[in-house]
Amino acid sequence: MKKVRLGRTGIEVNEVAMGCLPIQRVSKEEAVRILHTAYDGGVQLFDTAHVYTDSEEKIGAAFTPSMRQRIIITSKAMATDYRTAMDQIDQSLERMHTDYIDIYQWHNPKFITGAPEDPESVYSALKDAQKQGKIRFIGVTNHHLGRAKEAAMSGDYDTVQYPFSMLSTPDEMELTKICKEQNVGFFAMKAMCGGLLEDGRAPFAFMHSLENVVPLWGVQRVSEMEQFLSLANDPPAFDEEMQKEVVRIREENGSEFCRGCGYCLPCPAGIELPTVMRIEFFVKRNRPDVWLSEKNKLRVDQTLQCLRCGACASRCPYHLDIPNRIVDQREAYYELYRQYHSGEPLRFRVRQK
Ligand code: SF4
Ligand code: SF4
Repeated sequence: MKKVRLGRTGIEVNEVAMGCLPIQRVSKEEAVRILHTAYDGGVQLFDTAHVYTDSEEKIGAAFTPSMRQRIIITSKAMATDYRTAMDQIDQSLERMHTDYIDIYQWHNPKFITGAPEDPESVYSALKDAQKQGKIRFIGVTNHHLGRAKEAAMSGDYDTVQYPFSMLSTPDEMELTKICKEQNVGFFAMKAMCGGLLEDGRAPFAFMHSLENVVPLWGVQRVSEMEQFLSLANDPPAFDEEMQKEVVRIREENGSEFCRGCGYCLPCPAGIELPTVMRIEFFVKRNRPDVWLSEKNKLRVDQTLQCLRCGACASRCPYHLDIPNRIVDQREAYYELYRQYHSGEPLRFRVRQK
């Protein structure tokens, strides 16, 4: 399997790394099965977070002390002060039955600079934890491109994690170059665009063509992990045909698409934004009988309660016009619902918003 080096950490891992957010949604037994499939297939890096409910416990349940020595674990603290960050690091260690975490990341902070000098900051907690041997390296994650670039250039972080996929813009591609120049490791989160892409071939071929990117493949089924392992053992070329496929998917989704990250929540009207923002896509790509059911229509109906307060849009890292986008999605959905329930063939718009 191709190896990728994580910048100045000197850590080199096989190119298939596992994002452990989705294992929250499966039973402990199933999570352990997925983690063992990954481990047996050569996955060396597992990325989790303190905030991913029981993901860390499932990692702790899956790996014996001797297995733990052979893997790299990365986790994250979504804290805003020293004490909380330190407590979260200690809890992560306990949950995963380990006495060190290889890379601990500050999880999506709202600012990057100034932290090193402040003794009460999260960054100081990470530094102290590093001195105490609880963590080996310090990383940061962010959904904001400017902040991710700032972190990469600051010299304070060994790794940067940012949503990055084959649909990323040239500006986002530049971030990978900055990381390379600064000798900072780069993790691609949401390499499948938060569920927007279903077939792993093109996304995998794209990542495989890059030198310094470790994509974190979030999987919640053994079969999904097996697909990535088989792609790594026989990597598809990112050839002309694949690149045409990327252009087609880009055109279908536009440059501004919802990644399903959920940062826009909570909505005071109780609207399930990460779902309804992509509802047309879900109907198109998945089983219409499921997505055009009464249950899902009720989720879409909830958008009628929108207060147009703008709270969601102010929190969206991609500056999506959520209040108007959900109206557009609702109208498109109602038309598909009507077609489906009156027995007509489904007619999708060429370009979704
Ligand atoms: S604008 Fe509408 S969708 Fe957005 S947070 Fe307010 S009520 Fe919810
Ligand atoms: S609307 Fe924005 S914040 Fe909300 S899920 Fe989509 S990308 Fe994330």
